[in-house]
Amino acid sequence: MKFKEKIREIQDFPEKGIQFKDITTLLKDGKAFHAAINQLAQPFRHQDIDLVVGPEARGFVVGAPVAYALGVGFVPVRKSGKLPGETLSYRYTLEYGENVLEVHRDAVKPGQKVLIADDLLATGGTTRAVVQMVEQLGGEVVGLTFMIELLYLKGRQLLGHDNITSLLKYK
Ligand code: 5GP
Repeated sequence: MKFKEKIREIQDFPEKGIQFKDITTLLKDGKAFHAAINQLAQPFRHQDIDLVVGPEARGFVVGAPVAYALGVGFVPVRKSGKLPGETLSYRYTLEYGENVLEVHRDAVKPGQKVLIADDLLATGGTTRAVVQMVEQLGGEVVGLTFMIELLYLKGRQLLGHDNITSLLKYK
């Protein structure tokens, strides 16, 4: 399957100079979506994983079906104020401004092995926040998986983890 052909590239979104990778064109193609999720899940089928954790919103679209394919649970990381239970909040800085993410405090138990999933790895800032949240809850991040990796933004280096996989790489 030529997944790259299914990704639509949109110039100057959300701001000038950014070429946005639009995954909705892949998602609406049932065969491509199914094959992409299977391929993302494949390397982790024989690894010891208890949970998949994915950040709002596109991390749900990738993370939940990967969890389903692996037969493990899914934990959402959400923007501030959305989760009903007791949460751990994590504030981190972005290129412009800052962001707050939250996760239920009881969602990850100490010692659980976690796979983090998102649609796209850019600078790695979002994923690094999720890694730190999982670790604060006592979870162990054993792998990270993305539909798309923008190699030139060096997110992989920022994360410094040895088990990072991505389906599509852009130079
Ligand atoms: P990072 O924190 O690695 O710089 O950015 C990754 C986050 O921003 C991901 O959660 C991803 O959803 C979003 N993102 C940044 N650029 C793009 C893009 O071109 N396409 C998509 N689909 N998401 C993007």
